[in-house]
Amino acid sequence: MRLAVIQGRLALITERGAIDVATASEFPSDPQAVYDQWERFRAWYAANPDTLRTAEAAPCRADELDAPVPAPRQVFGIGMNYRAHAAEAGLSVPESDPVVFAKYVSSVAGPGAVVTLPSEAVDYEAELVVVMGKRAHRVSRDEAWNHVAGLTIGQDLSERLVQFRGQTPQFSLGKSFPGFSPTGPVLVTPDEFDDPDNIEIGCTLNGQQMQKGRTSDLIFTVPRLIESLSAIVALLPGDLIFTGTPAGIGWARDPKVVLRPGDRLVTHAEVIGELTTTFTAG
Ligand code: ZN
Repeated sequence: MRLAVIQGRLALITERGAIDVATASEFPSDPQAVYDQWERFRAWYAANPDTLRTAEAAPCRADELDAPVPAPRQVFGIGMNYRAHAAEAGLSVPESDPVVFAKYVSSVAGPGAVVTLPSEAVDYEAELVVVMGKRAHRVSRDEAWNHVAGLTIGQDLSERLVQFRGQTPQFSLGKSFPGFSPTGPVLVTPDEFDDPDNIEIGCTLNGQQMQKGRTSDLIFTVPRLIESLSAIVALLPGDLIFTGTPAGIGWARDPKVVLRPGDRLVTHAEVIGELTTTFTAG
């Protein structure tokens, strides 16, 4: 199943176009209200295959898409989750526990976002993003995927000077300027992937490939991240987990590459598609 949010309303994305969920079912149009009853929604979808063939479908316009979860309650980020990226950042590889920070929810943006650059030290990080579909507290890795609604693409935009300013790094602040958490274009359920633990992810900047990796190289896999986070925090339906970025960030290059006004960043993941973000001067 592929889902998008179109002008604030949840829609199924099919080969025939977008089917408005509230029109085709008894579920509400508010995406968060559907994530809050995700198992019922999955069951309805599985029990009504004719809906996809017969319900009214409309062309899906890219400029009408919102973030798949426009108002998550919690957004988690994971640092140093690919060995090659930890090496380029000059940071040690976490051993027993993932490096966790918050991306505050006011930083969430959708496909086609135009992000204001607060400085000349803003970097890109292509990431696979997990969308939770069920409350998860003390969930084992074996049970983790059963708590996931789907996967989408994200950019963990990062202001590097703020991130590393002060006595201890300020990851959460440096990664939470307005628009610094674009996601989309769609949410794809795990069953749509040959292997949801092995997905190619990357990005191009102004057409040039900057990052390319596979989630099979994650140090902490999606099930392990859910096990580790949920050992402490109760994860809620619609919560986002940015799972970490592969090698190739701009800040680690010589000379450094930073995002500039007019830049076009396209983040891609197999099966999911492309997420485009552009930038304007602050
Ligand atoms: Zn990141």
